[in-house]
Amino acid sequence: MILLIPGPVTTRDEVRAKMAHDIAPWDDEFRLVSRRVRDRVRQISGGDAQTHTALPLQGCGHFGTEAALRSVLPPGGRILIADTGSYADRMIRLAREAGRDPVVLRVDQNCAVPSPAIAAALAADPTISHVGVVYSETSTGVIQDLPAIGAVVRAAGRRMILDAVSAFGALPLNLAAQPEIDAAIFTANKCLEGLPGIAFIVVRNDRLLPMGTAASWSFDLADILDHARQTNGGTFRFTPAAQVVAAFDTALDFFDAEGGQTARLARYQANKAELWTGMVRIGLQPCLQWAAQGPIVMNIHAPDDAAWSLPRFVVELKARGFTISNFYNTDDPSFRVGCIGHITPGDMARFTDAADQALTAMGVVRRSPPAPHSR
Ligand SMILES: *Cc1c(COP(=O)(O)O)cnc(C)c1O
Repeated sequence: MILLIPGPVTTRDEVRAKMAHDIAPWDDEFRLVSRRVRDRVRQISGGDAQTHTALPLQGCGHFGTEAALRSVLPPGGRILIADTGSYADRMIRLAREAGRDPVVLRVDQNCAVPSPAIAAALAADPTISHVGVVYSETSTGVIQDLPAIGAVVRAAGRRMILDAVSAFGALPLNLAAQPEIDAAIFTANKCLEGLPGIAFIVVRNDRLLPMGTAASWSFDLADILDHARQTNGGTFRFTPAAQVVAAFDTALDFFDAEGGQTARLARYQANKAELWTGMVRIGLQPCLQWAAQGPIVMNIHAPDDAAWSLPRFVVELKARGFTISNFYNTDDPSFRVGCIGHITPGDMARFTDAADQALTAMGVVRRSPPAPHSR
């Protein structure tokens, strides 16, 4: 079965095989692995060993985002978040429920946020200290222009929290060149092609609020940094998903062997191009303009045919070896296909054939979307 969801992704047999062992999380051997993994992801982030630390946190990406919000933005602190889609909405909610004050900027979700819009919002409100950015908005597939947004944040003397969960490892990131970024969040199970169960937050050490300010011991990055320093980064405060960490180390070996971020991005771009061409060939229409379509995930308009049913389509695809998301992400009905994971353009070509057969089996005749005026 090939997972074409934008995370957790299809992984290699060798990566999954690393989980088939019992591990004592405080054991010296595991400490080495855990320390190595943290160094490796700090290097991928472009963070400098003097100024940046990669902090691991058990759980999912949203836990990492909540921890970052609580640990660099003070209680009541104001953070500007462009509403780029459902992942931005989640950051807004996490901030609000943590007692921080999100300021929502409405934007066109079908293209990247123009950096002057961020500059204007910051100029209009000097009480905003931070900008929250979702680098790759996984609900739409749009990628933000991170250097451009970073430049306006820097120029305005503000700080940034970066949700890089579906970007990290594939899209360029250089924290040393973007000192305005206080924290960048990602997980093992997206573009780095590991398994789910652990998040990482790469932080600027000097930007963490004092221990206790997070008002959550579990999510206090200052406490995690303190622990890392005391133990030389080898252990976790509480039981980690040790097998996931071990498997991630192997996933990083394959990342290096492939040629790192640029090679991974090139493969995902090739996946995206093959998927786009294939969908158009079988009569379907992607939701975004090509220029706005990122290499992580693609939404494709549902066919305008009474026989269309997303749940049925998902079942038909599964019978042919592919799993896609079984929910709508866009206002208009669409289906969503991930371009990331241990997959190649050949898999995308096979997916296209499977989708073609699935639609035929469902009796979908008209494959184009409804005319724009009726949407
Ligand atoms: C996957 C993802 C997350 C985290 O999702 P979890 O289910 O909490 O791991 C956060 N932001 C973006 C943009 C994502 O793609």
